[in-house]
Amino acid sequence: MSTTVLPSYEDAVARYEPVIGLETHVELGTNTKMFCGCPTGFGAEPNTQVCPVCLGLPGSLPVANRAAIEATIRIGLALNCSIASWCRMARKNYFYPDMPKNFQTSQYDEPLCVDGYVDVEIDGETIRIGIERVHLEEDTGKTLHVGGATGRIHGATESLVDYNRAGIPLVEIVTKPVPGIGARAPEVARAYVTELRDIVRSLGVSDVRMEQGSLRCDVNTSLNKPGEAWGTRTETKNVNSLRSVERAVRSEIIRQSALLDDGVRIIQETRHFQEDTGDTRSGRSKEEATDYRYFPEPDLVPMAPDAAWVESLRLSLPERPSVRRARLRELWAISEADMSSVVNAGAVDLIEETIAAGASPAGARKWWMGELARRANETGVELSALGATPVQVAQLQRLVDDGKLNDKLARAVLEGVVAGEGDPAAVMAARGLGVVSDTGALTAAVDEAIAANPDIAAKIRDGKVAAAGALVGAVMKTTRGQADAKTVRELILARLSS
Ligand SMILES: [Zn+2]
Repeated sequence: MSTTVLPSYEDAVARYEPVIGLETHVELGTNTKMFCGCPTGFGAEPNTQVCPVCLGLPGSLPVANRAAIEATIRIGLALNCSIASWCRMARKNYFYPDMPKNFQTSQYDEPLCVDGYVDVEIDGETIRIGIERVHLEEDTGKTLHVGGATGRIHGATESLVDYNRAGIPLVEIVTKPVPGIGARAPEVARAYVTELRDIVRSLGVSDVRMEQGSLRCDVNTSLNKPGEAWGTRTETKNVNSLRSVERAVRSEIIRQSALLDDGVRIIQETRHFQEDTGDTRSGRSKEEATDYRYFPEPDLVPMAPDAAWVESLRLSLPERPSVRRARLRELWAISEADMSSVVNAGAVDLIEETIAAGASPAGARKWWMGELARRANETGVELSALGATPVQVAQLQRLVDDGKLNDKLARAVLEGVVAGEGDPAAVMAARGLGVVSDTGALTAAVDEAIAANPDIAAKIRDGKVAAAGALVGAVMKTTRGQADAKTVRELILARLSS
């Protein structure tokens, strides 16, 4: 390990040109696995969703999952790829404990989709990322190392294997190398994965949740001096958040530039992103290319998607997320930055449905991006799974618009809705929440506040109207926040003006 002082990022990109490439794995949300009928649900007891096929027992035979092939073709079409009229699965032979068959059924030289692109926008400029290939394969199982401090194999006393994930259909999406983006390389990488995630999500073929591993990303980075050939690339594995994608590219650029400055050769290797420090650590060296001894899978017939079928899939593609975002941004009259926050919070559909249920765009956005987003962050639950529906949020906003709830009370009502106590109106009734604007009921509270604060009352009588705020506060306190502040203020001023 060199003891070089790391240059700043700005220094590094001033002297070297980065080239990036991304390999993304998307776990499809099919009901059953790729080659057998085992269920695919997340979080089941280990090794309860397995059978002879996905355990690779002798004599078992795979049958391809049509829904997975269709989903892969739809992803390919959405990424502007050509769809192969004929292709085969291949065996990728290697031994690893999480691979019960000792080979992975994948695709090699005959991918299902090739040669597409994705456009991403950075600061108003469109950058086109070429797509090399989109192919179909199966996922591996999961290994758990226990007994050690770090959860790694080093120091562990035993390793456990769960094959529930083995055989779940996995789509691999590989970009072409992306040169010429200079200092924006980390940002471009993040924008690409974001766009890819949104496209795949819009197709409804995967929940694309990076934190659950249904979207996993490997980032390739190399550096070269201007005018020289591309450098040796490293591959940073399993970067599991959008932010980490950006950080991984950035830290590789800094690390590699320091080595190149010292005349050290970059080794082609796998590296692991460190979430805590934001840098990468060396993994497996790829200097000697692994020979996977690929050969066409003899137990499966070739795939030959019918041209008319592919065409009908093309015609049924949903509106492109970038187009939809631009349309909604205009409709909702919000800035690009606000729209990005909405997208990142996974709130686009929820806000759209809340508006469809009668709320104004501002009202809908306020609840989903405010109180509800805060709760989602605190509890680590997705917005859509919090327990409040778009219809309920629209009802809540209507109660605020009608003056029956103020903001504070509305938040309390929302808490009841999220807790499963029913619609806003039911929560209001059950919890006794609601704005009191009945002047009869408020007058007594106003008189009480005036009597308790004679000094303030005197100031208001002398024309210092601003002092009324303190009395309004006192009334709000005695009415437990349920008074209509505007009505209270009017009552106080009327009482003290004569
Ligand atoms: Zn199975």
